[in-house]
Amino acid sequence: MSCVKSRETKQSTNVDPAKDFNASAEMLPRQPSKTPKALRNGGRVKSNAAEPTGVYQPNNNVMAPHMQSPDYVQLSTAAAITLGIMTGKMYRCECTRCLNLLLTYPEGCRANCAYCGLARHREAERDYADRNFIRVDWPAVPMDDIIDIVAKDPANSPFHRMCISMITHPRSDRDTVSVLKKWTDRIDPEVLPVSILSNPTTMNRDDVITLKDLGADIFTVALDAATPEIFDRTRGKGVQSPHKWDKYWEILMHAKDVFGAQKFGAHIIVGMGETEQDTLRLVQQIVDLGGHSHMFCFFPEKGSLMDHLPATPRDQWRRVQLARYLIDYRDVRVEQMSFDDEQRITDYGMAGGELSDIIEQGIAFRTSGCPGKVQEDISACDRPYGDSPPSNIASYPFQPKKKDLKKIRRQLDIPVVVQS
Ligand code: SF4
Repeated sequence: MSCVKSRETKQSTNVDPAKDFNASAEMLPRQPSKTPKALRNGGRVKSNAAEPTGVYQPNNNVMAPHMQSPDYVQLSTAAAITLGIMTGKMYRCECTRCLNLLLTYPEGCRANCAYCGLARHREAERDYADRNFIRVDWPAVPMDDIIDIVAKDPANSPFHRMCISMITHPRSDRDTVSVLKKWTDRIDPEVLPVSILSNPTTMNRDDVITLKDLGADIFTVALDAATPEIFDRTRGKGVQSPHKWDKYWEILMHAKDVFGAQKFGAHIIVGMGETEQDTLRLVQQIVDLGGHSHMFCFFPEKGSLMDHLPATPRDQWRRVQLARYLIDYRDVRVEQMSFDDEQRITDYGMAGGELSDIIEQGIAFRTSGCPGKVQEDISACDRPYGDSPPSNIASYPFQPKKKDLKKIRRQLDIPVVVQS
């Protein structure tokens, strides 16, 4: 974890200060290498067959025990610290307000997304429970232990929301239902709402309905890529991965029908070769459907098929981050914005003084995601340093202070407007 000591702390961001966007032609993933047969499908973990004994903390590729959902889940380092399962301290923030859980299996995720640390191609190199994901380790913990802690006093829990991330596995649909049931049997989802980060590839409309009926509050689809071409090259055929853009949209549309307005959304990663206009058109499309977008800054995750590529330059990221906030929460439309020949934003469609006030409020630059107890446009899911190191923050997991806003304005190249 980057705000506690870990192997990720010193990773370079690869940001080229002279370049202000990641062009499509440069953002090409490596091809996955072949995994020896004996190591496929969690072969090493299964043949070792070590019984799990409580919490498993990733420890640089010592053999992971045989843990699986629904009995076990993995949780973010931030959530583990917040729960008191791990010790540590976050840089400039109190841990997290979202209990992010990942389903877990010896076979790991069966997809091969090029930017993701959990991808299948890593199985020769690192057991599933030892893989870094959004820059942090994910300890594996018995689900009952987590519920025991939170159920003591859900209303006063530090968490504002719980989220189940499904990963791609033949059992993830049914185990998501089991994990959700275990939770709602003891914790009222009205008190601590639940989000589902879905895996559309294995789902159908009935699965979406079941999760809603069991008390899930928000359903999200990680499109991640902003265009069908980038989707295909980073998570589809281009990297021997099973996902399809159309299938993701099919489930997103079911989520819109079943969960309703403001209760569904899409994840989008900025800086994988799409243009700024591509991303913001997609943001507008989702808003027009009644949903929200949750945005991530591309970071070259160690061990992923894109770990040789540059992180999104901060100028590109800030422009898109600000424009997305205006579309999602301030009723500005993408058609009111202007773009240059490279489809970079040149005008946000809002008067300078008003835009300056929004920048000064700082909320646009915080981590985006499902809301918590504070207000609609402040995410419960703050994912501390999940898309950048603390030395060059992309998504602020806390309210940006004066010095942060000065830096943000420099990155945006928008000075303070002095009112006469
Ligand atoms: S499906 Fe999700 S967890 Fe699996 S490789 Fe793709 S992004 Fe990672």
